[in-house]
Amino acid sequence: MSHQIAIVGSGPSGLYVAEALAKLLPDSSIDVIDRLPTPYGLVRGGIAPDHQSTKNVSRAFEKTLSRHGTRFLGNVEIGRDLSYDELKAAYDVVVLSIGSALDRTLGVPGEDLGGVYGSAAFVGWYNGHPQHHDLAPLLDGKALAVIGNGNVALDVVRVLAKTPAELADSDICLHAARAIAAGSLTDLYLIGRRGPVEASFTPKELGELGDLERCDVIVDPRQLPDDVGPEVPEKEVKVKQRNLEILREFAAREHGAKPMRIHILFYAAPVAVLGEHRARAILLDRTRIENGRAVPTGERLELPVDAVVVAIGYLTAPFAGVPFDEKRGIFANDEGLIEPGVYAAGWCKHGPRGVVGTNRTDAQGLVQRILSELDQSPERDGKPGGAEVDRLLRERGVNVVDFAAWKRIEEAEVARAQGGKPREKFVTMDELLAAAFSKAGVE
Ligand code: NAP
Repeated sequence: MSHQIAIVGSGPSGLYVAEALAKLLPDSSIDVIDRLPTPYGLVRGGIAPDHQSTKNVSRAFEKTLSRHGTRFLGNVEIGRDLSYDELKAAYDVVVLSIGSALDRTLGVPGEDLGGVYGSAAFVGWYNGHPQHHDLAPLLDGKALAVIGNGNVALDVVRVLAKTPAELADSDICLHAARAIAAGSLTDLYLIGRRGPVEASFTPKELGELGDLERCDVIVDPRQLPDDVGPEVPEKEVKVKQRNLEILREFAAREHGAKPMRIHILFYAAPVAVLGEHRARAILLDRTRIENGRAVPTGERLELPVDAVVVAIGYLTAPFAGVPFDEKRGIFANDEGLIEPGVYAAGWCKHGPRGVVGTNRTDAQGLVQRILSELDQSPERDGKPGGAEVDRLLRERGVNVVDFAAWKRIEEAEVARAQGGKPREKFVTMDELLAAAFSKAGVE
């Protein structure tokens, strides 16, 4: 039987669901809807521009999107161009895989000062997300603090620390590459509220900080425990031990020869960002770990900085009609089920964790569930599907970017890239749509 399926969000979680559904329901019609004219979600807009090999997964996603029976409907926003109710009325199954586009905030005084940025905005800026390309972060000071001990925090310090030559074969957007090259930062502080064992870095990403051309990495050996300790779950011991080894190697290094420094500070929890209009310092509580939590020791540290990037995780953007779990910042769901016929996949289902590939296993599990529930609910079959949605979008004058139009954007981005860059992204909706519907491509 042919099923009408909509997947909202064309990032890894959505496209792995599309892949698994296409395999198990080869006759189904699958519409992958995205508010951007470009597919692949975090692969384009989140993964660091100097991690090109991780972006190769988009070749597999391209196959998924170009399968007969699967369509890409870019530049279509649920809530603006189509309502959630219209979506449910049109499709037998709706999968929401919109990720977590909003920054989690510290909730401390001064977070709204100039020079303080969330990592979604900051990463979106250097990766050319249309919503964040014009962030224009203040990089004119000497010191910048990145709050958080996850891989996003590492991405941010590494990209800021790299020389133009080190970024030459990345796809960092021109505006960001120029701003970083013109910036005057000399000291980047990577700040964790807990210790090195609790940090959620992965060793490969941590190790990369040790290979930077113009930047030393400074770690206080007194902050490094001798061992990971008994609390660490068995499956994480190796990774934590490797992180400790890397940090010990950093701590043992001579430094002073390079013009920039990354200081890795553990046991420091932000209490306030200080400044009048713009950040001039960050106030930190020194902490110790009790039952796995960071508790203040009573000692405080005022660290002069000129800008702050808060990289402490993300929240899903709620949308009208979909039940939301405010505490966790995800769609309220029971193992992926939001309501009959509607499912959540990826970060909007379980929060921002895991790497791209984690979504594949998750997607396969979710699709098994979708299939068994489809079998039990024949009354859901027979919805009008994409034809009805096409009619509504036409009526509303929406310029849908289909797969061919996305390929025109991609080709134009590759064609205009200079030097060793794989692409020079278009960063505004106007530029993207102009490339999508360029006469040369359409005729
Ligand atoms: P993450 O790994 O969850 O790290 C968040 C960090 O923020 C943690 O160190 C956390 O500390 C800290 N934090 C949370 N609330 C805080 C607060 N109020 N004050 C101070 N610190 C606070 O998240 P992420 O870095 O955003 O990454 C998201 C996911 O993407 C992760 O699975 C990550 O591995 C993945 N990713 C992977 C790569 C890669 O593989 N190269 C690159 C980027 C992202 P606590 O632990 O104390 O809560």
